Amino acid sequence: MTAAEIARQLGLRRVGTAWRGSCPVCGGRSRFQIREGRSGPLVWCWAGCKPADLLGELRRRGLWPQPERRELTPAERRAAAEQRRRDERDLEAARNFGAAADLLVDELLETLPVADLSRGPLTAMKAAMRTETGLLVEYRDWREREPELTAALVAAGRNRGARLEMMLRHYLLGGAKNAA
Ligand SMILES: [Zn+2]
Repeated sequence: MTAAEIARQLGLRRVGTAWRGSCPVCGGRSRFQIREGRSGPLVWCWAGCKPADLLGELRRRGLWPQPERRELTPAERRAAAEQRRRDERDLEAARNFGAAADLLVDELLETLPVADLSRGPLTAMKAAMRTETGLLVEYRDWREREPELTAALVAAGRNRGARLEMMLRHYLLGGAKNAA
């Protein structure tokens, strides 16, 4: 469907090269805009609705194509299953790693000077570890670069409790400093 067709269905009015009108998500008057882009219609809400929500609503109304659901080839299915098995295998270790690494990062952020350049990457790592995918990526990256420290963090995470803080202070912080 072209931008012009979607605009007609939504009762938008033409403004220059675009069409404008009520937002189908938030209802904001004249907040919604659509125009023809190089690879298809571009939608926007000036009230700040997320593009994914706008497309979702347009899909629900049958004004936007559904995401393509292609049948996977047997090889792709095997690769996906293998990836899932790898993820499941790593996830428990990654969770333990994440629990300990999170404390370690907090500890480092507390002690590092405000201007220290490693604060950015540490904060980014903490944020990345909030999702399962990000956690797996961080864990595998660390396992690759710092196998011993990573194993120690996994062990520390497994022993969550009273000993954890002591281990972090005495052992891991020293390890992290030596590794840096
Ligand atoms: Zn909106």
